[in-house]
Amino acid sequence: PIKEVTDAEKENGAHCLILPHPTQGHINPILQFAKRLTHKRIKITLALTKFTLKTTTGFSGGSISTRSISDGFDEGGRAHANSSEEYQARFQQVGRETLAELLQDLAGSGRPVDCVVYDPFIPWVLDVAKGFGLLAAAFFTQSCALKLPLSGGEVVVPGLPPMKPEEMPSFIHDHGSYPGTFQMLLNQFRNVDKADWILINTFDKLEQEVLEWMSRFWRVKAIGPTIPSMYLDKRLQDDKEYGLNMFNPMTNTCMNWLDNQEPKSVIYASFGSLAQLTARQTKELAYALTTSNKPFLWVVRSTEESKLPEDFSKSRKGLVVTWAPQLEVLSHMAVGCFVTHCGWNSTLEGLSLGVPLVAMPQWTDQSTNAKLVTDVWGVGVRARADCNGIVSREEIVSCVKSVMESEDGKRIGSNAVKWKGIAREALDLGGSSDKNIEEFVTEIMLKRY
Ligand code: UDP
Repeated sequence: PIKEVTDAEKENGAHCLILPHPTQGHINPILQFAKRLTHKRIKITLALTKFTLKTTTGFSGGSISTRSISDGFDEGGRAHANSSEEYQARFQQVGRETLAELLQDLAGSGRPVDCVVYDPFIPWVLDVAKGFGLLAAAFFTQSCALKLPLSGGEVVVPGLPPMKPEEMPSFIHDHGSYPGTFQMLLNQFRNVDKADWILINTFDKLEQEVLEWMSRFWRVKAIGPTIPSMYLDKRLQDDKEYGLNMFNPMTNTCMNWLDNQEPKSVIYASFGSLAQLTARQTKELAYALTTSNKPFLWVVRSTEESKLPEDFSKSRKGLVVTWAPQLEVLSHMAVGCFVTHCGWNSTLEGLSLGVPLVAMPQWTDQSTNAKLVTDVWGVGVRARADCNGIVSREEIVSCVKSVMESEDGKRIGSNAVKWKGIAREALDLGGSSDKNIEEFVTEIMLKRY
């Protein structure tokens, strides 16, 4: 176990204000990182939007205290904005003001903030932090590889084989479809040169080549995967005390159901917290899961439920839920494969917990993540869409069988086990990410005076 921090060390430790972008896929990784910092003498204050604080069920932060800022939509959050552009503009305006008030307040608290760790989806946080003369670290929640096409305008990415257009981040060839999101992705790099550190949720061996390339320009530190210690290195004793959506009643439903399944027999399907499949695609997936003749656990968010085909009987072999405790599910011995949209968190979670993947990317960086999964790490196969953009039921079934039953599946399975070991090593005492986090902490202490 990690050596406990003494009270004196805590008293003198630096104070970091953590500011995530208010979506699940961004809050989770930065929160897990914050947990690791608390074990290395750092006091953490987590700033969430008023709406996030109000709507999160069962947030438990252990010794992490929470404060609020406002995105200008305290009642309804992002859903109450007319467009992504409107949301971002208002968040920037109201966020700047309320963050400045918070920093002012903390400055007078006897424990002023030394460093702001922020999500570059909200780059104005860096401007505010620098206005207060604070240290700042940009915390990227996507792969390293993703940053090159955007920042350099190039498509040849170190550490990746040449990519076909559909394998590149969707905003490169299709940014006209969602200009607000595209702008947000570009804005991440607007002022990032002013950041004292670039922290990335990856680990050295996973994206070695591209990390080395980026280190030529920035002070880059790979600090991931930001998987709770209890699932990997098992060094943090208080791991269970922290998290979002803890005590969700779905947890027991899912885990009891999994307990009754055979080892490595279950298909787990989930498309993260944002992706919306078309009704047609949902139908193909529904029939693929029922005809695969394997037990399946499928997460269909309540906003997506109306897309389930009318004649879709909640087959005795399957359990459909609106939310699943993904890390616990992926750690369960009954799970044999993960049909995923390849959001960066889901990709890292599947890889780090040794579960073979069937990649069904939808948009943004997911197609590039799928390319890494299949062609670089060899931990899964990609289910390809037909000329209408639909992944057919036959294609999904064939991919599932390929990873769960075929000769090639054995290769994928052993790669998955290999990567699980490497991910654990990175976070374990003296591992690359553990060292990078330790260095980050030491550098804050040195720089703050
Ligand atoms: N998640 C979960 N249960 C669900 C859906 C999502 O625990 O039912 C978690 C998942 O483990 C991951 C995050 O939410 O940490 C989703 O992040 P990802 O980057 O994979 O996708 P996004 O939601 O950003 O598209």
